[in-house]
Amino acid sequence: MKRNSLYIIISTVVLAIPVAVLPAAELLQHTSPLAFINTAFENASPLDWEFDKDGNVIIDLIYDHERSSPNRANGHWFFQLHAASGSDLTLILQNFDNVWNGRIGIPISDRTSCFLSVDGKKWEAIPAEKIEGNRLKIPIHMEGETLFVARMEPYRLSDLERLMDEIKDNPLVEITPIGKTVEGRQLEIIRVGKADAPYRVVIRARAHAWEAGGNWVAQGLINSLLEKSEENQRYLEKFCLYIMPMANKDFVVHGRTRFNALGKDLNRNWDQPADPVLSPENHAFEQWLTGMIEKGKRPHLAIDLHNDNGGNIHISRPAIDLERYLANMQRFEELLTELTWFTEGSTKAGFRNPGSFGEGLLERFGIDAFVYELNCDWIEGLKKAPFGEDWELLGRQLREVLYRYFENYNS
Ligand SMILES: [Zn+2]
Repeated sequence: MKRNSLYIIISTVVLAIPVAVLPAAELLQHTSPLAFINTAFENASPLDWEFDKDGNVIIDLIYDHERSSPNRANGHWFFQLHAASGSDLTLILQNFDNVWNGRIGIPISDRTSCFLSVDGKKWEAIPAEKIEGNRLKIPIHMEGETLFVARMEPYRLSDLERLMDEIKDNPLVEITPIGKTVEGRQLEIIRVGKADAPYRVVIRARAHAWEAGGNWVAQGLINSLLEKSEENQRYLEKFCLYIMPMANKDFVVHGRTRFNALGKDLNRNWDQPADPVLSPENHAFEQWLTGMIEKGKRPHLAIDLHNDNGGNIHISRPAIDLERYLANMQRFEELLTELTWFTEGSTKAGFRNPGSFGEGLLERFGIDAFVYELNCDWIEGLKKAPFGEDWELLGRQLREVLYRYFENYNS
């Protein structure tokens, strides 16, 4: 009763203010050549945008947030500009103040690439200029009326589904459903090769949604191993691949950066069993891995593919006997350097990343495992910005690396 009376009094007071004292709304005119930014498609990044006084297009990218943590991440962008053909635009991308392992993260690199495409298939790379405020300035010339702009050459869930459709009937391929993502998308392991080959290699890609590079490497590796050739006969007698091609499918579809749909980092917490509700993607992988080990088919090597702007192999060093592991990792790195365009090297003594895939699989399952961060801005070995086909080439070259690695394998 009392509350109702108060409401009536407040309403009356508000209504009693004469309209004339409200500030006159300014009539806003649209004068920019930019008509619209389209984000209504698969893997497009959510964003907000407005013009500054100079007519620059300020693009506010949206952070992903980690659950029960100060961590937040933004690094993915993928959108389509609609603007007058022949016009020039300046984009300013912002919100790169990431929080990482509880600390303010490394600022955006001053060697960041930006990828452009008219049709979403053929891409070119341009440098993005780092400007004050940890922001990126990207000059755009509109050749036509639409243009895709992306952090790197995209690899979408539909690209993976097309690949799986192409290979699924090959007698060397078996696609096994292993569980579902938070949003109910099917997760799978793609076996490529002969199940009775003496050595088994696990590769996971796309734990972090923005990091498309791993999918390109996996695709290059899979397609090249399925070609009919003498060298492949050699490879197939030596090793069999088990690939989890896209761990974080939900946030790849949604165009987000790092975490899964419930805010879990799929490259953390590997020091303990995965939570089946919060991290069903990791739980599914872990169940599959445990099943393999129970069948006497423990993998000999596991690689988790990521992107950053360093390009290192992350050799994590938990407090266990590491002699054999470090010797194997050194040999793998030497072969990768000799037989592929990889030049970036590995993390040095003292490096640890507790809870990461590499460290967790080594500590808990006794598997030689590591995280490989593909440099998303520059391939020093090729002196160019990385495109999908460059990463596919690395996947193709990986076959010989794996073959030689197991030729003199120290178990
Ligand atoms: Zn990553």
